[in-house]
Amino acid sequence: MAEIVRDKALEALNTFGVPAFARYYAVFADRRQLDELFSMPETEGLPWYVLGGGSNVLFTGDYEGLMLQPVGKRMEAVEESGETVSVRAEAGVVWDDFVRFCVERGYGGVENLSGIPGSVGAAPVQNVGAYGAEAKDVIREVEIYLPQERTVRMLRREECAFGYRDSVFKRELKGRAIVLSVTFELSRMPVFRLGYGDLVQEVERLGGASPENVRRAVISIRNAKLPDPAVLGNSGSFFKNPVVAPEAAERLKARYPEMPSYPAPGGVKLAAGWLIDRAGWKGRREGRVGVHDRQALVLVNHGGAAGSEVLELARRIVADVAEKFGVELELEVNVL
Ligand SMILES: Cc1cc2nc3c(=O)[nH]c(=O)nc-3n(C[C@H](O)[C@H](O)[C@H](O)COP(=O)(O)OP(=O)(O)OC[C@H]3O[C@@H](n4cnc5c(N)ncnc54)[C@H](O)[C@@H]3O)c2cc1C
Repeated sequence: MAEIVRDKALEALNTFGVPAFARYYAVFADRRQLDELFSMPETEGLPWYVLGGGSNVLFTGDYEGLMLQPVGKRMEAVEESGETVSVRAEAGVVWDDFVRFCVERGYGGVENLSGIPGSVGAAPVQNVGAYGAEAKDVIREVEIYLPQERTVRMLRREECAFGYRDSVFKRELKGRAIVLSVTFELSRMPVFRLGYGDLVQEVERLGGASPENVRRAVISIRNAKLPDPAVLGNSGSFFKNPVVAPEAAERLKARYPEMPSYPAPGGVKLAAGWLIDRAGWKGRREGRVGVHDRQALVLVNHGGAAGSEVLELARRIVADVAEKFGVELELEVNVL
């Protein structure tokens, strides 16, 4: 039986650890409970939002609608054929539990995405990525619930319009779809992607390429570089790496030959972290918020900050980078 809670505190439900309340809050395990919730008179006409692990959201005030959180945690191999295995996981499964499930069984394809916080349901929304891999590489289909129509639909990978930290769920289906489950297609004969940063050296140190060793290597590199939200509130990369026109990249390269840049669809991708660092923000603290001292893409809550303070800092960084480099940074984090 679905149940609505009033005035739910969200401080412990977001990795920034900023305070906020949801006027209405409910958990759901499946489609039936969503049907129930959306039939209740209290929810009629209310805006709604899905909160997964809260590791990519910033609350800048209370949420005056219905906050829904998936709690379904079923995960199983649903099909095996030749070299591939399909695994279906419900939206409420912790992303890294899913990765561990695959790695323990020798299913390859998600080991580079080890250690990313959050839930399975958010993975297709964000098209999470790390160490040269993205969720879209292994997503076969996404099961969604459409509250307006009270129907369930299955979207194939091609229908999800995946891009860099982007998908149909952030565009045409924004505010219209709730992810119920994701089916992934994994490989029994994995081809490892180790060409990113120090990964290959770390994997060699651990004894060579296997899903288990890649997972251990990725987690150890991540732990060395990224702040633990349980200790220092943050939501990972606050900004996306900007893609600029080739001429703009060339102009910057002429001024800063050491500036990292990569070919990307639509132009040249620059490293937002490098721009922020070069503009002098890395490690800078402003009251209760700041920029992490090892990773300039990460904004942190030093304790007791409000979401609006984090957003204010982000705006100042965006303005400064625009002034110094003529590059407009976009936020990766979902601001509410
Ligand atoms: C320390 C740290 C490191 C990180 N490293 C990485 C990284 O390497 N790569 C990377 O890509 N990200 C990274 N992130 C960001 C974050 O972990 C991912 O974006 C993750 O997918 C967010 O999952 P979540 O469940 O916490 O989503 P939330 O923050 O709860 O939600 C994110 C968005 O997804 C939507 N959403 C969530 N669940 C559903 C659902 N079931 N149906 C519909 N919409 C939904 C929300 O409405 C919101 O818009 C990092 C974050 C932290 C704190």
